[in-house]
Amino acid sequence: MNGIKMVDLKGQYLRIKNEIDAAIQNVLLDTDFIQGAQVKLFAEHLSAYHQGAHVIPCGNGTDALQITMMALELKPGDEVILPVHTYVATAEVIALLGLTPVFTEVDEETFNINPHQIKEKITAKTKAIVPVHLYGQCAEMTPILKIVKEYNLLVIEDLAQAIGAQYKFPTGESKKAGTIGHVGCTSFFPSKNLGAYGDGGAILTTDKTWADKMQMICNHGQRIKYHHDMIGVNSRLDTIQAAILNVKLKYLDDYTKRRNKVADFYDAHLKDVSFIKTPVRVSYSTHAFHQYTLRTVGIDRNHFKKYLEEKGVPTMIYYPVPLHLQKAYQRPGVGEGSFPVTEKLSKTVISLPIHTEMTEDELLYICHAIKNYHG
Ligand SMILES: *Cc1c(COP(=O)(O)O)cnc(C)c1O
Repeated sequence: MNGIKMVDLKGQYLRIKNEIDAAIQNVLLDTDFIQGAQVKLFAEHLSAYHQGAHVIPCGNGTDALQITMMALELKPGDEVILPVHTYVATAEVIALLGLTPVFTEVDEETFNINPHQIKEKITAKTKAIVPVHLYGQCAEMTPILKIVKEYNLLVIEDLAQAIGAQYKFPTGESKKAGTIGHVGCTSFFPSKNLGAYGDGGAILTTDKTWADKMQMICNHGQRIKYHHDMIGVNSRLDTIQAAILNVKLKYLDDYTKRRNKVADFYDAHLKDVSFIKTPVRVSYSTHAFHQYTLRTVGIDRNHFKKYLEEKGVPTMIYYPVPLHLQKAYQRPGVGEGSFPVTEKLSKTVISLPIHTEMTEDELLYICHAIKNYHG
């Protein structure tokens, strides 16, 4: 079979082409490219989607994290706890601001930060925890929120992969990813679940004072043009991207459903394959399935990847080198063996194609190819 893709942004675009083209055309005619009307509208729509949380659109998901940490006044030397199994952006902004990233092990089944190993990382300098809702499923927030309260810390959710996922508390109450902690940071990178046609990001918070400050920081620290009250950055969601996102946000829940259908199909067809484990679904969160990530057992993952490639099945490894072993983030005494679960995952995980446009024929073909692998 030809043409199976990890993501199919073109197919997705073609289904809503008329709406998107008109939205872009309108921005071109209005020429309000920076801080245009569509940006404000998108912030309102995304806020409504998140039960009225304040939304601060910005240039990308990495900036969302950075601006958040600036607004929360984290200072050089402060320690920030984050999972070691994540995308580099999470650690990058912490280091960039002179803060200390404190890596924490993840849970082998959920891929998310292990709440039971957080306390041992807390020192007098710890100021914040950044749980990442990896692959689209929320980290276990209930015990994290308990720790945060006990030690008076801030919690910044990285929901770049999990927009729309719903966290369920033991009380039965439920909240959307990004509105569980103090602040949520997300990305509209094209391949994300809510993807723009370029870079984009947003910050969510229910705190009005922080929201105002974040808004100023995004725009050179000014509220009134040429009056700079604080040091800021230039990080704005551009109007064309906002117009595109305004169209696509309407379809986000449908997109999430489509991703879940793909995941359900994989689950049903791959559950008895001896050399893989399908993703574990937790009771406390819905899954946005940004990625469908298998754990291989007892086979050479890279050989398996190559085999699938030869069959026309693209796959990806998220992430092949753990952060503590990356040149930029190495520290004395923290090497191979420091985070055995993450190191094992880096050698055994493999993500299958998952997107909104997948056909049953493609899924059948992929599952067939996997079942026919003989090491
Ligand atoms: C994509 C991503 C980011 C960064 O978003 P950008 O918009 O690419 O800057 C941060 N964290 C995680 C977990 C991501 O997947």
